[in-house]
Amino acid sequence: MRIVPEPGRIEDGKVIVYLDEKRRHTGMDLLAQSEAFMENLRGDRISMIFQEPNAALNPTMSIGDQIGESFLFHQKEKLFATILRDLESEGCRTLFPLKQFQQAVYRLGARQPDALILNLLDRIPILKHWQRKLKKEARQRAVDIIRKLGLSNPEQIVDQYPHNLSGGMKQRIVIAIALACSPVLLIADEATSNLDVTIQAQILELLRRLKQEVISSILLITHDLGVVAETCDRVGVMYAGNLCEVADVKDLFQNPLHPYTRALLDAVPKFSMQDDLKSIDGHVPNLVTPPSGCRFHPRCVHAMAVCREAFPDMTEIGRNHLVACYWAAARK
Ligand code: SF4
Repeated sequence: MRIVPEPGRIEDGKVIVYLDEKRRHTGMDLLAQSEAFMENLRGDRISMIFQEPNAALNPTMSIGDQIGESFLFHQKEKLFATILRDLESEGCRTLFPLKQFQQAVYRLGARQPDALILNLLDRIPILKHWQRKLKKEARQRAVDIIRKLGLSNPEQIVDQYPHNLSGGMKQRIVIAIALACSPVLLIADEATSNLDVTIQAQILELLRRLKQEVISSILLITHDLGVVAETCDRVGVMYAGNLCEVADVKDLFQNPLHPYTRALLDAVPKFSMQDDLKSIDGHVPNLVTPPSGCRFHPRCVHAMAVCREAFPDMTEIGRNHLVACYWAAARK
C-alpha cells in the first residue's frame, strides 16, 4: 500500500496487483504509480485491517463517522446518485425551484463529485443541505455494513464511540471500515492476534465468508500456524524480512522444504505430554545489520559455507512449491 514510513523504503522489486476481479487485465505494479493514484486506491480497491483496533480507530469520532468517511471519500458520486434517485422517486421533480436546484446539484455530484462549483455552493449556508444528505446516506450505509458483519443494534452502534465497544466489536468495526468500498484485496495484518480464541474464531469465520461473498483476495499476515492451516490457500513463509518458502497450504504442511519452515512446524506444541516443547536455537537477527548470505544461517542446522556468502535464489522444487535454500535445492 506504499505506507512505509520514513526512513523505511521499498528498495527493489515489484508489487503486482490485479485490480480487476476477473483478472481480464494484466496486473498493475503499485510501485510505478503516482501518490495521487495510490490515495484513491487505499481504502477503496485495496484496504487493510491493522493489528490493534484501539490504535486503528479514532477515539474522538463516532463509529458511523469513521465508517462513513470511506464512502464520502471514495464513493461520493454513488451517494449523490442514490440521493438523486430518492428525490426523483418522491415525485418532486417540478414542484419548487429549490427542489429543481437540488436535483441539479445531485446530478452534477453524481457525475463530478469534486466539481469546483460544489465546493463554492458548500460555502453558502442555505445551500448546505446537500452535504447533510450526503452524510446521512453515508451513515445509512455504515448501518448496513455493520449489520452485514453480524453485530446487533447497528443503528445504536453508529452513534457510539470506540470506548463503548468490546475488543471483538472494535475489530469488526475495523473490518467494516476496510470493507466499506468492497475492496479487491484486503490485507489483514495480525487481525486476530489480540483477541481471545472464541472471538478469533468468529473473526476468521467472518473473513472466510467475506472472501466468498465480497472480496477477491485476502492477504493474511500472521505468526499463528493454526490460523494459516485453517484459513489460507497459498502460503509465503518469511524470515528476517525475506521470503524463504512459497507453497500451497497443504503442500507446505505435508512437505516443508526450508529448514526454517521445518523448525517452525517442529516448534508447534504437540498433544502428547511426552514431547518436549521445541524451539529454534539462536535469536532473531537485527535487521539493521542482518547476517550475510542466507539470513537464517546462524540458526540453521544445515548451514554450509556457501550459505554465509550469497543469498540463495528462489527455486521451484515440485509443482508451485518454491524455496530459497541451497540445502533444499541440493536434495531435489
Ligand atoms: S540456505 Fe543454507 S543457511 Fe539458509 S536455510 Fe538453506 S541450508 Fe540453511
